[in-house]
Order: sequence, then C-alpha cells, then structure tokens
Amino acid sequence: MQVLRTKQEAHAEVERLRRSGLRLSLVPTMGALHAGHLSLVRLAAPGCDVVMASIFVNPLQFGPSEDLERYPRDLDGDLRKLEAAGVQLVFAPQAQDMLGSDGLTSVQVERLGDVLCGARRPGHFRGVATIVSKLFHVLQPHVAVFGLKDAQQAILLRRMVRDLDFPVELRYGPIVRAVDGLALSSRNAYLDEAERSEALLLQRSLAEARRLVQQGERRAAEIERTIRDLLQTGDMLHVDYVACVDTLDLQPLQELRGNVLIAVGVQLGDTHLIDNIILAVRHESVQDADIEGRPITTKPNVGSESQG
Ligand code: AMP
Repeated sequence: MQVLRTKQEAHAEVERLRRSGLRLSLVPTMGALHAGHLSLVRLAAPGCDVVMASIFVNPLQFGPSEDLERYPRDLDGDLRKLEAAGVQLVFAPQAQDMLGSDGLTSVQVERLGDVLCGARRPGHFRGVATIVSKLFHVLQPHVAVFGLKDAQQAILLRRMVRDLDFPVELRYGPIVRAVDGLALSSRNAYLDEAERSEALLLQRSLAEARRLVQQGERRAAEIERTIRDLLQTGDMLHVDYVACVDTLDLQPLQELRGNVLIAVGVQLGDTHLIDNIILAVRHESVQDADIEGRPITTKPNVGSESQG
C-alpha cells in the first residue's frame, strides 16, 4: 500500500495510474477508522482496479467552538486497517499542504447545507464540499463512496457532483452499527458509559418510527413527535433536530411519500451525535433504501466499536 503525504506526489501517482488505463475509486475519511469506514472500502472495489482512501481531518468543516483539536487521530492504526482491507493508495496530507494559507475560493451548495446539521453548524457543509472537490481534483477518482450515516452530506455531494459536472460515479454505503444498535462513529469514543447507553435512544426511536410507517402512519408530525418523545426520555440528551425530509432536496415533508430521510441530531454532553433511516414509502410497501430509493438491507451489526 502506498502512503502519499502531499498533493503533488498523490496527483503524479494518480496521473500515472490513469495513464495505464486503471479505474480508481476513493473513500474519503477523517481517520479514526472503524468498521463503517471499512465497509465503504469493500463497496469501492467492484469494477475498479485501485481503491484509494484519504485521511484528512478537515479544518474547514469544524466551527470555532467544535472539536477539531480533540478529534481522534490514529494514523498508524488507520493505515494497518486500510492495508488489511485491500486499499492500495492512501492520501494523508498535512493541513498546510491541502489548504494552503491564502485560499479565497469555496464550494457552496445552496440551501441543502443550511438545514438539519447545517442549521447549527454554519459553514460546515461548505467546508465539506470544498474539501471533497479538492480531493476529487487531486485524486481524480472514477468512483467515490460515501456512507449513509451522513445522509445529508451524501445528498449535498450528489448535488455538487451533478451541478459542477464532476465526472465521478457516487456509491453509498448503509450505516454500520455496533451490536447494541448504536451507529458507529469516530465521535462515539467521547461518550462515557452513561452517555453511551443513552445514545441508544437514537436508534430505538428511529426503529419505532420505521415500525409506525410500516403500520401505515404517514403524518410526518406524528412520526417526529414519537421520535422526540422517546429521545426526551433520556435525561442527559438534548434534541437538536428531528425531521422527515425529502431525499432529493431535504425539504420538510408533511406526509411521508417517496424516498424519505428521517434524521435526528442530538447533543449528549459535549458530543454531537446523528443517526437516520431512509425509507422508500410506496402505496402499501415501506422499505429501507439509499438516497436514490434503491432498497438496501440494513447491515448486520458488528461486534465492537473498534472492530475493523
Ligand atoms: P468521517 O471519517 O466521519 O468523515 O466519515 C467518512 C465516511 O465514512 C463518510 O462517508 C461517512 O458517512 C462514512 N461513515 C461514518 N460512519 C459510518 C457508519 N457507521 N456506517 C457507514 N458509513 C459510515
């Protein structure tokens, strides 16, 4: 596995690979890798000759009072996991090289970045879109893979790729969960035991929402109320948002129809946690789906947080 630390080296290597006619796929990450990230690596392989991963804790997507400094970092561990998973090229740049010191240009996807997580994290999705654009330019992947854990991010990047004509095929990986149902996240490392057990309310409330929709409930307000009531049984947890929105443009829905993202964001102590389900709601049938409405089987839960 090659590990390239500068844009220049990475770009030269990618040019060489493309000139030999190879198809490249990319899994962008911020490191502190877990089984969720590694599931994306597996999804990146079919139809591609070289699977690349990037590890970059992107300062542009952290607000001034957010956890940039304490965000977990484990480059050696990450490289071991990526190699074992079959990644051939890792791009792990320093912030100074990746961003320069005098950037004036950013990528802003209007509206989609202002709701849900974007409402409390101004500039976050601009930071995401800017860095993903730069990664696409440096690494020139034919395919890029994103997780549905960050469904808003996937929807926004799909829109960016379409609006700016990036020649990249996007793939989406289902949420990978721990045995107890908690969606794997690098930030779970911040949770103490009590917080972690309260964090299970996210998945439980979404499972209850799914059950209601399967029983025929279509009123978004009713679904949102049920989720909120369940979340509020936790005494440490502060609900940031609960929303039923369209997977096309993240617009709030009154009635659940088509491809629906049911998303929650909470604050638990100092930690911000998100989770979601996506349902393809047809007349009588309700199925777990990706943001395109393609049916997905929810991933079997994995053994532990650190399991790769
Ligand atoms: P991050 O390192 O948090 O920026 O995440 C990198 C990629 O991994 C993003 O596309 C995330 O959506 C995805 N990801 C993170 N956690 C999970 C998970 N539990 N299941 C599936 N994908 C995930």
